[in-house]
Amino acid sequence: MAGVDVGGVELEFPCPRCGGPTRAAIQAVRMLPVLDCPACGERFGVDLDAFSAQVDAAETAAKAARKRRKG
Ligand SMILES: [Zn+2]
Repeated sequence: MAGVDVGGVELEFPCPRCGGPTRAAIQAVRMLPVLDCPACGERFGVDLDAFSAQVDAAETAAKAARKRRKG
């Protein structure tokens, strides 16, 4: 089905070292699923299973928002 584009949506990924949230856009993680924690500088790979679930949730939220706008 024609999906909604959620590539620009930012998600939060917990740093495995300090637990701090690291924000990244979905399209950036799709290209390179490696993030640098802004708090401690740890470089870590994104959990792709968890990422996939977060993308699904973002798409669901975007579709719901679109539906609301149409009325
Ligand atoms: Zn960290």
